[in-house]
Amino acid sequence: MKNRIAYVTGGMGGIGTAICRKLHEKGCRVIAGCSPRRDYRSWLDVQKAAGFDFGFSVADVTSGESVSAAFSQLKSEVGEVDILINNAGITRDSSFMKMTPKQWQEVMDTNLNGLFYTTQAVLKGMTSRGWGRIINISSVNARRGQYGQVNYSAAKAGIYGFTKSLACEVASKGVTVNSISPGYTATNMVEAMPAAILQKIVSSVPQGRLGLPEETAAAAAFIASDDAAFITGANLDVNGGLYMG
Ligand code: NDP
Repeated sequence: MKNRIAYVTGGMGGIGTAICRKLHEKGCRVIAGCSPRRDYRSWLDVQKAAGFDFGFSVADVTSGESVSAAFSQLKSEVGEVDILINNAGITRDSSFMKMTPKQWQEVMDTNLNGLFYTTQAVLKGMTSRGWGRIINISSVNARRGQYGQVNYSAAKAGIYGFTKSLACEVASKGVTVNSISPGYTATNMVEAMPAAILQKIVSSVPQGRLGLPEETAAAAAFIASDDAAFITGANLDVNGGLYMG
C-alpha cells in the first residue's frame, strides 16, 4: 500500500480519523475529506502533533458540483485516488410516522447519494490504471433494522446493492468494491445518545461493549490491501456479534 493515494470521506470524524491513521501507518498518502462545516485546520494540527501528516479536501458529498470540484483540484495538486473510503454519514432519527421529508432526504443525500458522486469522480482513473479499492461504510442497522431509523437503514442497505452491482462492473479491471458494516462504535455519533439508551444497546451486544473506531479501521486497511485482491462485492461485519447474518 506504499504511496497509494487514499481518500476518506468524513475523514475527520470518529471512524474516519481512525481509518486515516491506519492507512497512513500502512504507507498511504491520505487525504481526509470533510464538509464545508468543519474547522479542518485544528483537526490537521492535532493529527500533525500526533505524527500524522494528512492532506485535506473540502467537499460536500451531497453536491455533485462540490465533489467534482474537490476531486479535480486533488488530481492536479496531489494525483489520482487509488483507495476511496465512503465513510461520511449522518443520522436524523425519528419514528417513521413522525419522520419529515427533510429527515428522509438529508440522510439519503449524505449516506447514499454521496457515494454516487465520489465514486464517479475516481472510478475511471482506477479502471484505466488497473487497480483500485472502493470501500463503503454501511451499518449493522442496515443488516437488522432499527426502530427510528427507517431513513438510515434504507440508505445504508442501499449501499449493499451499490457495492455488489458496481463490483460486477469493475471486477475484471483490478478494482474491488466492498462494504463494512460496523456495529455500535464509540464515536460522537453514538456517545451523543441518552445514557439509558446507550446502556441498553451495550448490554444487547454479545461482547458487551462498543466497538472501537480502530477496529473498523483495521478492517478497512485489510480490504484496501493487496492481500484482499480476491475479495469483492462482499460485506464485512464488525459488530461484536450484534448481528450474525
Ligand atoms: P461522525 O459523526 O464522527 O463522522 C461522520 C463524518 O461524516 C463527519 O466527519 C462529517 O464531516 C461527515 N459528513 C457528514 N455530512 C457530510 C457531508 N455532507 N459532506 C461531507 N462529509 C460529511 O460519525 P462516525 O465516525 O461514527 O461515523 C462514520 C460512518 O460510520 C458513518 O457513515 C456512520 O453512519 C457509520 N457508522 C457509525 C457507527 C457508530 O456506531 N459510530 C455504526 C455504524 C456505522 P465533518 O467532519 O465535516 O463534520
